[in-house]
Amino acid sequence: MRFRTLKQLVEVCTSSQMSIAEVMLADQAKESGKTPEQEFKKMLQYYQVMKSAVEKGLTEDTTSRSGLTGKDAQRVMSQLAVSEASVGKEACTAMAYALAVSEVNASMGRIIATPTAGSSGIIPGVFVSAQQRFGWDDDHMVMGLFCAGAIGYVIANNSFVSGAEGGCQAEVGSAIGMAAGAMVELRGGTPAQAIHAVGLALKNTLGLICDPVGGLVEIPCIVRNGFGAVNALAAADMALAGVRSVIPSDEVVQVMYEVGTAMPDKHRETAKGGLAQTPTGKKIMEDL
Ligand code: SF4
Repeated sequence: MRFRTLKQLVEVCTSSQMSIAEVMLADQAKESGKTPEQEFKKMLQYYQVMKSAVEKGLTEDTTSRSGLTGKDAQRVMSQLAVSEASVGKEACTAMAYALAVSEVNASMGRIIATPTAGSSGIIPGVFVSAQQRFGWDDDHMVMGLFCAGAIGYVIANNSFVSGAEGGCQAEVGSAIGMAAGAMVELRGGTPAQAIHAVGLALKNTLGLICDPVGGLVEIPCIVRNGFGAVNALAAADMALAGVRSVIPSDEVVQVMYEVGTAMPDKHRETAKGGLAQTPTGKKIMEDL
């Protein structure tokens, strides 16, 4: 890869007159030894899986094996059909789609880890709803996934993308940053704006702990994906409007690393703290 940081990513885009997605596609093909066409085709297949997961979550029974979660995406869509959503129709749809994919994950369905299974709802939630809304074709969405991938690559190499390592800020936070940056580029924003969206998004999840009830990726993971999709849209809108992350995005990534490293073990996917150790969380764990 020609970049290790988000700043370098923007510099490569500027010097090569390429988008983030184009840089990522070219560099990934070079690194894997495959052709860009082969890489593109593989990503297109991933996108089909994401779309199928959204569809499955909206139409099938997604009750998890534990019985704790399921069908919340369908509840949100049913409500949207009869009532004005407080966050507006588009954000509400993205939120429902993110819930749908997370519920498919919790019920052992097929998803794409973006960047992890726990945060697998956010990118499909944002992408699939935006595709329907703006009428984009699959090729455009695939380029968006390459953009998201470039952002995830930098975060993973400079901080963390898993809850066990850095808390939920690393998992759900990274997915929001990836979705936000990609949304900017999908909508015609510049690489610099996309990277500002990443910093804006990540700032809003710093410190978020990983505290899955019963150690299952269900509570609070699924709703955090729903919220995450809305936050990604908000960050993209701010960046497209010219709002900047005054603390450079690479520095925000470093803060995520610092906070994650300092996070106690009980808040890093062990279910020994946070929501998992509330009276109700403990009772659920006993009943499982
Ligand atoms: S709480 Fe933990 S397991 Fe659940 S989504 Fe966040 S990082 Fe993943």
